[in-house]
Amino acid sequence: MKRTKVLRSIPFDLSLRDALGERLRVLPGDCARYPVSGVTPKSVALPRDAKETALALEAATAEGAIVVVRGAGTKSHRQPPPRTVEVVLDTSALDTVVEHAPEDLTVTVGGGTPLVKVEALLRARGQFWPCDAPFAASSTVGGTIASNAHGALRLRYGALREQILGALIATPDGALVRTGARVVKSVAGYDSHKLISGSFGTLGVIAEATLKVAPLPETENVVVARFRSAVSASAIARAVATSPLFPMAIVLVDDACARRVGALLAHASTGSWLLLIRCGGNRRSVARQVSDLTKACEATGADSVDILDHVATPRAWSDIRELSGGAPFDAQRFVVLKTTSLPTDTPAAIADARNRWPAAELSAQPASGIVYAHIPVSDLAPPAGANGEAPHVEPLHRAYTRAGWSAIVLSGPPSSLPPYVTAPSAPTRLFRAVKAALDPAGTLDPGRLPGGV
Ligand SMILES: Cc1cc2nc3c(=O)[nH]c(=O)nc-3n(C[C@H](O)[C@H](O)[C@H](O)COP(=O)(O)OP(=O)(O)OC[C@H]3O[C@@H](n4cnc5c(N)ncnc54)[C@H](O)[C@@H]3O)c2cc1C
Repeated sequence: MKRTKVLRSIPFDLSLRDALGERLRVLPGDCARYPVSGVTPKSVALPRDAKETALALEAATAEGAIVVVRGAGTKSHRQPPPRTVEVVLDTSALDTVVEHAPEDLTVTVGGGTPLVKVEALLRARGQFWPCDAPFAASSTVGGTIASNAHGALRLRYGALREQILGALIATPDGALVRTGARVVKSVAGYDSHKLISGSFGTLGVIAEATLKVAPLPETENVVVARFRSAVSASAIARAVATSPLFPMAIVLVDDACARRVGALLAHASTGSWLLLIRCGGNRRSVARQVSDLTKACEATGADSVDILDHVATPRAWSDIRELSGGAPFDAQRFVVLKTTSLPTDTPAAIADARNRWPAAELSAQPASGIVYAHIPVSDLAPPAGANGEAPHVEPLHRAYTRAGWSAIVLSGPPSSLPPYVTAPSAPTRLFRAVKAALDPAGTLDPGRLPGGV
């Protein structure tokens, strides 16, 4: 992205200061609290509302400053590091519940609203947002959407972009663009808010989002089936996912991951895999699901099948959801690699990861074809020097490309693994065209999407 403006020495006083006043912080101590993949920003902007967010973006664009958006900062370890960061735009003050319409199954909140706040609000009215994203204790709605941080509930409720009905987006030119609507049925205009899902803050700032919520099931149980192999556990997961049993979510964890969840400690045993099937509905339906699933798992060679009841389930799942993307893993000691493949390829992706990184802790959503490898940095070579990549990267890239798998590093310190192990399915040309249309000046975190977009 060609940048035409010449950056003044910091602080980018004038226009940014006009927009934000004392909510532009430039003291080194303030800036040090907002590192982006190890890079300390030169200033921190704390807009109070959507309008100020747009003003700050407009001012930053006019100054030629590079802006990185930050919610709770839970994904601030994403690689590659930015070349430079002039402004971190902290959305934590955009923490408002604009409207909850329980009868319409919608809620509209500020982009900086913590997930826990939304979840508590909805739970009080017997509802939930079916996005069991990780980092639940601190992450914001905007950050969750922007990083497409879905959880295993996508099996029943669809991808995260399906859970957004509309948004108010501040764009780098200072506009506030409203997309979608605050109703479930709407066919007006393009679904631009879906474009923002997974954009990692590179296209605009989610100032507000309208979420599609669902009624809480009357009761929930988790079937915990222990298998000796990931192959048989994955096969039963695929069969169950396409059966009329219609579970809410299916997660597969190795014994090391299982030991990170208090409620699973008693079920884990060395070398085994736990298949976790979350069932929800009315009492009769859940009882039937649990009974049928128990029989199905026993018939396919499960060593044991246990049930977490309606009391144990919510607590257990709040830990299990954290295994989809790295929350319980120290971001300085683990690289988290997410591999997406066809569900039928999940056992092969698991075997490949186990073979390459024997000490990696593995979790998966086997019916959705997703595998998370939490790889200790000690299992990886140090970052490649200026002369090129570590020797094992090319074979890895070739093997994954041949298999048709997409693999990205979600977080971790710099390592020999490239941030995008395989080319994403969307062509870089398309990424470039979208970026050029929405952020022509390259204000928002340029260079960190695949292809350096
Ligand atoms: C009075 C009324 C109100 C409605 N309100 C809502 C609402 O608020 N929210 C909502 O979600 N749904 C609403 N619907 C339903 C909605 O119109 C349809 O569900 C939706 O348009 C899809 O219909 P369809 O699949 O039959 O496609 P069509 O209605 O046949 O076409 C959808 C669009 O695709 C184009 N198209 C169709 N075929 C092709 C083709 N082969 N190649 C290129 N373009 C094509 C059409 O020109 C049109 O623009 C409403 C329907 C009615 C009658």
